[in-house]
Amino acid sequence: MMTMDVSKSEAAKPGSNTGQQECAGCCKPITERFLLKALDLYWHEDCLKCGCCDCRLGEVGSTLYTKANLILCKRDYLRLFGNTGYCAACTKVIPAFEMVMRARNNVYHLECFACQQCNHR
Ligand SMILES: [Zn+2]
Ligand SMILES: [Zn+2]
Ligand SMILES: [Zn+2]
Repeated sequence: MMTMDVSKSEAAKPGSNTGQQECAGCCKPITERFLLKALDLYWHEDCLKCGCCDCRLGEVGSTLYTKANLILCKRDYLRLFGNTGYCAACTKVIPAFEMVMRARNNVYHLECFACQQCNHR
């Protein structure tokens, strides 16, 4: 996988000899004042979206994740490809993006860890 920084910059001014940039998402010229640059390509702010949840990556943060031609936000990347663990209390899967409690070599869902603490009393 790859992480890429998204940078927002001012588009080439009309009339300059650099010409108009074409959006890699919709293949239309970018006439807006600002464009996004990512993966060495130019994008409309509306076109650089997570392939999963459609969130606008120019706003989510400055990093996007790519894998197998997919462009993903961090959350979806971790959900799809991140390391999942198993809760030591309920033995169910813990998605990679979820907050966990770690104790010794075990990981727990936050709720499961709390319950365990109660049981000890
Ligand atoms: Zn576009
Ligand atoms: Zn997403
Ligand atoms: Zn659990």
